[in-house]
Amino acid sequence: MQLQCIDLSVPLETSISEPEPVQFEYIDHQQGALLLLKESGINADSFPDGLAVNLERIKLTSHSGTHVDAPLHYGPLCEGVRAQSIDELPLEWFFGTALVLDCSLKQSEETVSAKELQQAQTIQGLSLNKGDIVFINTGANKLWGRREYFTHFRGISLEATDWLLDCGIKVIGVDSFGFDAPFHKMIQAFQKTGNQHSLWPCHMLGRRRKYCQIERLTNLEALPTKKKFKVSCFPIKLKGCGGGPARVVALLNDEIN
Ligand SMILES: [Zn+2]
Repeated sequence: MQLQCIDLSVPLETSISEPEPVQFEYIDHQQGALLLLKESGINADSFPDGLAVNLERIKLTSHSGTHVDAPLHYGPLCEGVRAQSIDELPLEWFFGTALVLDCSLKQSEETVSAKELQQAQTIQGLSLNKGDIVFINTGANKLWGRREYFTHFRGISLEATDWLLDCGIKVIGVDSFGFDAPFHKMIQAFQKTGNQHSLWPCHMLGRRRKYCQIERLTNLEALPTKKKFKVSCFPIKLKGCGGGPARVVALLNDEIN
């Protein structure tokens, strides 16, 4: 049986979908020859065709592209102790059995509720087990590459997130720019009500309950909805950081699932 890998990550690229775009400086093979031999007194033509290695300098944030949020992102403390940074989390959290809950058909501007997730679970004939990686398909990835990607998505509600954590889930991924509602909506709600809980509620929940969010997944519609599968979503090892980009890949193979 052949292994099928489904890439669930957006590329790290200069995109108007990200308010802080990734910036690349490309050093081509010709410039690479000069770089390697600088101060050596050797002529760059000494390499075949005068070409050596290429490389890129990249400016990005720890939350660019598809990435994992660590407890440190949510606050300095988590469950009363120092919050862990992305390099300190157990690797076991980022490889294992996963499922996708499909909420992509519902036309709504509201955050995804616990009831919707529970209904999706029932319709799909799945049940959550402790330690499963859970992805929520809201259809928001369709706007990747457009400015609206940053403003037009649903996000996940606090009660839905609390319910997933009650089920023993530690890693929850979503296909939108952010896990909470769009920034402008939360700010408007706060301005209207003065209620502190309208500001990034799921991120603030991460101060009370230890879990990781994955933001900006894509391609969730390509995953099976009636069965679980394996996922690898290891974040890169950024020392002391609150998050890190990840290559999130679903591994489909009847023998390993
Ligand atoms: Zn993030």
